[in-house]
Amino acid sequence: MADDTHWVGSRQLLRRLRDAMARGGNAHERLDRIAQLIARGMVAEVCSVYVMRGETLVLYSTEGLRKDAVFRTRLQVGEGLVGNIASHASPLALADAQSHPQFVYRPETGEEIYHSFLGVPVIRSGRVLGVLTVQNQTQRNYTEEEIETLETVAMVVAEHIAGGDLKLPDEAMGMVTSEPVRLEGTKINPGLATGVAVLHERGAPITQTIAEDPEVEMVRVWDAMRAMHLALDSMEQKLSDDARGEPGGESLDILRAFRMIAADHGWIRRIREAVQSGLTAEAAVAKVQNDTRARMAQVTDPYIRDRLLDLDDLGYRLLQHLTGSDGSESRRESLPEDVVLIARSMGPVELLDYDRTRLRALVLDEGTAASHVAIVAKSLDIPVIGNVRGVIGKVEPNDPVFVDGDNGVAYVRPSEDFKKRFTESIAFRDRKRAEYAASRSLPAVTLDGEAISLQINAGLVIDLDHLHESGADGVGLYRTEIPFMIREQFPRLGTQTELYREIYEKASGRPVVFRTLDIGGDKLLPYLRATEDENPAMGWRALRIGLDRPAILRLQIRALLRAAAGQELRVMFPLVAEVAEFDAARAMLEYEIERAAHRGHAPPKMVRVGAMLEVPSLYFQLPQLLRQVDFLSVGSNDLVQFLFACDRGNPRVSDRYDVLSPAVLRFLGDVVAACRTAGVPVSLCGEMAGQPLEAMALIGLGFRNLSMPPGAIGAVRHMMQKLDAGRLSERLASLTTRADHTVRGELAEFAAAGGISV
Ligand code: PEP
Ligand code: MG
Repeated sequence: MADDTHWVGSRQLLRRLRDAMARGGNAHERLDRIAQLIARGMVAEVCSVYVMRGETLVLYSTEGLRKDAVFRTRLQVGEGLVGNIASHASPLALADAQSHPQFVYRPETGEEIYHSFLGVPVIRSGRVLGVLTVQNQTQRNYTEEEIETLETVAMVVAEHIAGGDLKLPDEAMGMVTSEPVRLEGTKINPGLATGVAVLHERGAPITQTIAEDPEVEMVRVWDAMRAMHLALDSMEQKLSDDARGEPGGESLDILRAFRMIAADHGWIRRIREAVQSGLTAEAAVAKVQNDTRARMAQVTDPYIRDRLLDLDDLGYRLLQHLTGSDGSESRRESLPEDVVLIARSMGPVELLDYDRTRLRALVLDEGTAASHVAIVAKSLDIPVIGNVRGVIGKVEPNDPVFVDGDNGVAYVRPSEDFKKRFTESIAFRDRKRAEYAASRSLPAVTLDGEAISLQINAGLVIDLDHLHESGADGVGLYRTEIPFMIREQFPRLGTQTELYREIYEKASGRPVVFRTLDIGGDKLLPYLRATEDENPAMGWRALRIGLDRPAILRLQIRALLRAAAGQELRVMFPLVAEVAEFDAARAMLEYEIERAAHRGHAPPKMVRVGAMLEVPSLYFQLPQLLRQVDFLSVGSNDLVQFLFACDRGNPRVSDRYDVLSPAVLRFLGDVVAACRTAGVPVSLCGEMAGQPLEAMALIGLGFRNLSMPPGAIGAVRHMMQKLDAGRLSERLASLTTRADHTVRGELAEFAAAGGISV
């Protein structure tokens, strides 16, 4: 068979490469041998290996081009044919390379006599490490099989480059761009940090690419496929058991679609071909993943992209079964002291695999503030930058990286001068932090004797550590949806109960306000299919889902009641738009209390039920609402976006209006007054409570209870030491009636005059 001759050729070539590598010599000598063998095996006059250094592709080895071009010839990513292969991460075959518009002539190589050109990217874990090319004098068309073969041997070259022993000689060092790079992204979590780059790899690293025996490798592939299907089967079974009217039904559909893709013959065939060409099972799967990614970069159709993403994910699952590892061990091993983690994208659990004590910052190619990994990173209190396009290709392992989370910028390999300035900024911040930490013992009382209760917002169990460190009075907002977001499946009753119990334990007697699920909008659950809301923030979310799908809310309330046995249970409902919604939710709670009593479960010591004021319509029913609730909590993030009709997640407009505008302050002042009249406790738990100047204004408006991110407690406590709340109230009375865009300036002047640190 014609195919057989080709595959045998490819296998033989791989075998020769393995023997050549085993013969020893330094990394460069071995690379030269690789290039010679590939040229011979592919019947080409030239074979060259370009290795990526920074953003430069450097010719590291060649068979056929002039030897003195080695280390001298270099191309930027995107420059010439080689640079183009790197930037698109896909192969290029040309019968007449020199007539291609992007051909760039490098006289030192002597390549003018070669006409046909075939180049493939050298990829490992989704990262382009270099480019491998062959050239021939005659104008010839390379066949699909030849392209495949070169892609296959590129897996071996990738392994060799990733070994890290290929060093540039000193005299060539200055010629490549290891220039400082400034990478801009979006701010996700503030803070400054430095460390060395660790590039996150999904899955375990592949250490063997060339197979001894393709038959054995194919058996390994089938075994792994079978194990993967069994795991998917049992996941499906579990979901069908759970489904009965609960949200499992949605995930079941998704899982079934996923399983169909796993049985995709094209995918399996490509893996089989890669194994037959002489790769180990894991290298074959990785090779097919590289192809999938290259295709993904080229398609814009969302349906096809999703399907390719599923294939990518399946590849990882299969690799896990093949290597018996998800790569988490290697994440725990040999980490530098200060790690700036660089990832294309990552799951929250993968982040938690790293040693927390060494993580200094996180830079993500694809992350946004709402991504689950960002939510976890925030709880680790490290600066996070998201949406840094192409970061994986621009940073080398061990590069020094300086992360400015306040401005959403990362500096890679910066100048000495910059390092000095940055280090000084960090020292200044550290001093401030130390000052705030020392203020832990300061009373949370204003200069004129008003006691303010400071609480933290939390979403993960680890957030509760900050409760004690910060000296806060309790948890004013526990966002229950966060544990739901980082799980692969809807947590069952037992899991939820355990989780809430743990929160009670960690809080050791301090009050915790549990907010029921606020999913939808930007908070999507992987297993609950997203609805096609045109306007998700105003769509099917939060309490609306809870009321329309009572099984979800009931299950959560049941878990809360069980966990709260003998304790105080404080529950609040998000996004209440009218009293009737609150009444319906409360009725559900009452029903569950009765049900639990009926079944003999120990009840909570006390139950307090509150509503979040986030939708302006509720303001007009405040007197009626305040007769029904035990407390009110203002969710200013949502409230302000709805007051101004201004999407909080859209950077184009999110800063257009100021929370310190007369309109917002007046609204909030009226809410506090109504609560005071009704004798109902009120708090505010949006981000503004954690900004010292905003918190000052809130105290001036009459708020005595503020809930904020844990890192903000110190600064707010510090601010109130010199604040005369009575005087500020008088000042605000004249400010809230103004027609100005904001009264931020006037409030800052008030603070400055009183020596208040904001
Ligand atoms: C808010 O909207 O202010 C709030 C606290 O809730 P979240 O930010 O979780 O929507
Ligand atoms: Mg909200």
